[in-house]
Amino acid sequence: MGKWNETVEIFKPHIAKIKSPRFQELRRLTAISSCIGLCLLINSMLITTKSQRARADAANIITIQGPQIDVSGRKEHMAIPLDLNDGLPVTVQRGIPADSAALSKNPEVVLTADQVDLVKHFSEYLTAHHEMAVITSGERSPEGQLDIIKQRIEEHGAANQFPLLDSASPSDTKVWLSAWNWLRARRVAVNAPADIPGQDIKTSMHLKGLAIDFIAGSLDQLSGWLADFSRSAYAKNTSLKIIGIVREPGCIHINLAPQA
Ligand SMILES: [Zn+2]
Repeated sequence: MGKWNETVEIFKPHIAKIKSPRFQELRRLTAISSCIGLCLLINSMLITTKSQRARADAANIITIQGPQIDVSGRKEHMAIPLDLNDGLPVTVQRGIPADSAALSKNPEVVLTADQVDLVKHFSEYLTAHHEMAVITSGERSPEGQLDIIKQRIEEHGAANQFPLLDSASPSDTKVWLSAWNWLRARRVAVNAPADIPGQDIKTSMHLKGLAIDFIAGSLDQLSGWLADFSRSAYAKNTSLKIIGIVREPGCIHINLAPQA
């Protein structure tokens, strides 16, 4: 006990010092200033990394040069195939059969349930005959059909004659009709994206889900396979039947009708 009391006696002045308001004030000031110091240090570190990052971003932006890419019009179009899972192999490179599949489709191709039923049977036919083909078009939306008109106009270097066409929708009849007539006058085969009451306009069978386009190594052979398939047992239990095979520039187009 004696030792303890001595110890307390020794520390009494120090304890008194610690308890004194001046010491406590000093301690508080030290704490505050070291805190401020730490904050400044962290802050300066953050500013350094931030400005470095900002510089990196600026460098990246500078390297990206060239014409502005407008993706606004394509968004809706791109969104369709992503939701769709019809089980058909999708090509990695457009037009090239996917992973040696007898029948695959380009990524943007949309098919109705009845079209899927038909092409799956055609796929079985192709497998049995060790042949390959790729579907390049199935059901088209009016927007998709109008996109084809926009493409053809651009290909013919006439885009500046139809300044409103690029942003036009199928309901902008006047805008696309003049472009469509311009193409027809030059014998460019393309269907209209919509019917116009009172006018003799042929809309695409693709719009009705009653046409499919295919390609293969040889289009002549492909049209032969389709004709043979349509007469075969493979095509007996499908909901759609082939009623026409048309050789178009760059593809074989088939017209379909409900099976009787
Ligand atoms: Zn077609």
